Amino acid sequence: MTTQYVYDFSEGDKDQKDLLGGKGANLAEMTRLGLPVPPGFTITTEACREYLAAGAEPGALHVQITTALRKLEDDLGKILGDANDPLLVSVRSGAKFSMPGMMETVLNVGLNDKSVNGLAKVSSNERFAWDSYRRLIQMFGKTVLDIEGEVFSEALQHLKDRAGVTSDVDLSPENLRELVDSFKAIVKEHTGRDFPQDPREQLDLAILAVFNSWNTPRAALYRRRERISHDLGTAVNICSMVFGNLGDTSGTGVAFTRDPASGKTGAYGDYLSNAQGEDVVAGIRNTLSLEDMKRIDEKSYTELMATMRKLETHYRDLCDIEFTVEKGKLWMLQTRVGKRTAAAAFRIATQLVDEHLISMDEALTRVTGSQLAQLMFPQFDSANQVKPVAVGMAASPGAAVGRAVFDSKTAVEWAERGERVVLVRRETNPDDLEGMIAANGILTSRGGKTSHAAVVARGMGKTCVCGADEVDVNVNEKCARVGDLEIREGDMISIDGSTGQVFTGELQVVPSPVSNYLEHGLDHAVATADHETAELVRAVDRILKHADSVRRLRVRTNADTADDSRWARKLGAEGIGLCRTEHMFLGDRRVLIERVILAGNQEEQNHALEALLPMQQSDFEQILDAMNELPVTIRLLDPPLHEFLPDRSELMVEVALGKERGHDVSHQELLLAAVDRLHESNPMLGLRGVRLGIVIPGLFVLQVRAIAQAAIERIRRGGHPKVEIMIPLVGSVMELHLIRDEIDQVIKEISTRENIDLQFAIGTMIELPRAALTAQRIAEAAEFFSFGTNDLTQTTWGFSRDDVEAAFFANYLDKGIFTVSPFESLDIDGVGALVKIAVEKGRATRPGIKLGVCGEHGGDPESIKFFHEVGLDYVSCSPFRVPVARLEAGRVKVLQG
Ligand code: ADP
Ligand code: MG
Ligand code: MG
Repeated sequence: MTTQYVYDFSEGDKDQKDLLGGKGANLAEMTRLGLPVPPGFTITTEACREYLAAGAEPGALHVQITTALRKLEDDLGKILGDANDPLLVSVRSGAKFSMPGMMETVLNVGLNDKSVNGLAKVSSNERFAWDSYRRLIQMFGKTVLDIEGEVFSEALQHLKDRAGVTSDVDLSPENLRELVDSFKAIVKEHTGRDFPQDPREQLDLAILAVFNSWNTPRAALYRRRERISHDLGTAVNICSMVFGNLGDTSGTGVAFTRDPASGKTGAYGDYLSNAQGEDVVAGIRNTLSLEDMKRIDEKSYTELMATMRKLETHYRDLCDIEFTVEKGKLWMLQTRVGKRTAAAAFRIATQLVDEHLISMDEALTRVTGSQLAQLMFPQFDSANQVKPVAVGMAASPGAAVGRAVFDSKTAVEWAERGERVVLVRRETNPDDLEGMIAANGILTSRGGKTSHAAVVARGMGKTCVCGADEVDVNVNEKCARVGDLEIREGDMISIDGSTGQVFTGELQVVPSPVSNYLEHGLDHAVATADHETAELVRAVDRILKHADSVRRLRVRTNADTADDSRWARKLGAEGIGLCRTEHMFLGDRRVLIERVILAGNQEEQNHALEALLPMQQSDFEQILDAMNELPVTIRLLDPPLHEFLPDRSELMVEVALGKERGHDVSHQELLLAAVDRLHESNPMLGLRGVRLGIVIPGLFVLQVRAIAQAAIERIRRGGHPKVEIMIPLVGSVMELHLIRDEIDQVIKEISTRENIDLQFAIGTMIELPRAALTAQRIAEAAEFFSFGTNDLTQTTWGFSRDDVEAAFFANYLDKGIFTVSPFESLDIDGVGALVKIAVEKGRATRPGIKLGVCGEHGGDPESIKFFHEVGLDYVSCSPFRVPVARLEAGRVKVLQG
């Protein structure tokens, strides 16, 4: 049996996107629904794949096209390119995913020197016929024959100038005839051959051009970045023409079944009368609203509304459509489930639930964690009512205000004296890192979402607008120009990383209504909002609560202070997955840790440790109080000790100056000696984590005593502390055994002394490949594992984030080695494989072992999906990300069960 390469629109349906492409599958679906779609057929992606593999069309393809074409001709009673009454078609590319770089549509295929006269006669509209013919030569020349589009538009402009008209519509039939001649001359000049007169040849050439456009560099690059397979191929749709350029009772338009920007109910769209295809988006003339269309042509309008309702009911979602009215008759040319803003996504999902079109489970799948995150960022107050001076790419969300500075050094200096600054660069490179850290936000005029500025800003969680190419940055003169406007160093600017907008002046920043809701509850948020905002907040509330009711993954937070703990609880955290203890050694207490490090003997060291105890204890008490009955995982000291000592070069200066002035610098000299002793060339891989606990006896014991006494204090006051003690950076079960022996001993002692039973879970972080690979042994001594995916990513890839992210990640992203930084989204194939191994081995030894993740990946939507699938018990992330994690955990449960 020969393969079927050609499907009539009446044969397919919307679920055949793999074979028919997105456009073809939806055209078939609309045909099946009985909607007015101009008849036509789709050439499958399979035909394209075979063509690309073999370098020639599959043998059966031409015959099948002929068969389909004849059926089309019979159905419509017209012959393609016939001299008297020609059938005309459009040739439209349509891959499974819409993709920049693919061939643009060619309209009016079938017109030639003869059929143009036939068309003029049957339509009684000579102007229309010649306008259609010149469009064919123009589109065909540009997209099929690869002639620079400018050449045609220049010729058109030239003619308009000579004819003294401003709009295309005002050209006379004679003008257009003349234009056809000059377009044909252009084709001849650029390709060395005449514009093809044979209609079938036009068709075949256009089809081949669509196939070939799959492999344009632009399309290939796009696929690499979006991780779309190169093997899919594109379908080609051949669709009989309908004409919106047949006078005032004709027109063309695009529409949405609801407002995709705000989510407001009710159709929304643009209409242009007496126009064909892409004129609407090209912005050649001002478009009309659908209300205006109703006034001009009520019948078509009414039919359009009914059709849109039918589509929305059928797809059970917001649809966008393309339509054309030919002499008062409506035709549907395209539909798909439409893109929308974050706010629209939440509102529309709950609207559809209330209209009984979808369930709450489905509503949950219609929104994403990153959409929720977008809604939580602070925003510019809408009362600002100012217009942006430029719009770039929304590279890293948030709203930033500050004085414009044009180099990294100034950014650092100004920030140090307390100024808010926005770093403005043409593009950034690793030398700008300090300035980026110091700045409130970053604005660049070049580069896209994977540029250095965008990647690094996202990594830091810093607001960034990139690629704002209207902003002409002059670093040498320390200024930027936008049109006539000049922005000088020190001028206030405001940038919106969620929309890409750039403003001059200082805009008011306000918390978003959604974060207002998350912090202060629904009633408060609704009471302070207008009608539309209230609907949004209610929608978020309903969907989040539903996510909570279905998800299996628990969501904890990473918090080091009682304040953060309380904030995270408001946002829905169900415990602390990572409480770092290192900040408890900073500030005023630094001298105490210095004494520990400088101690000459064990006794001195114990003394110094003893002095730290009460402070640690009170920190723990506050955190345990804030979390009360919820679990709190406390990590024992992790970073290398020299992080608590002063900077080496500063010390050296102090010693030298002090000596010169005859001061006593013996203490500084001791410190300097310690700094030198503790110096490591790779601190990330040095003396830290459990290694510290083993090398400095008493250090971990001190911390555990502080924790145990804090817990006792809480219990005495009627609290219910649930403590989990976590040992960092374990690579061998022996390390864990050694530390546990000490810890268990201390806990027992205190328990007995105070006569209170302390049930602490003791576990470890899995953040070294060796730990993952020997997890069956480590589980012998660990009651829980928490995956430290930041360090695990560093140690698996062998790079230190601080050193490499700014240095070359943009380059790697650009080349498609990563699609996203492995620190933003878990590298599932590599790091994920280690997680999986550790989960299996850990459970094999200890079936009930509790498993969680405390790296920043715990708040990343894609990574959460993976953590659910491998069966972790919880994720832990920064407080801000907790709602996102709740939502994503619910989504993955609904989507994957
Ligand atoms: P895109 O994917 O860029 O939207 P389309 O294939 O949808 O490309 O076509 C571009 C424009 O031409 C659209 O406005 C579409 O409605 C119009 N168009 C396509 N085919 C036809 C046709 N057979 N008759 C009239 N207009 C058409
Ligand atoms: Mg389209
Ligand atoms: Mg770590």
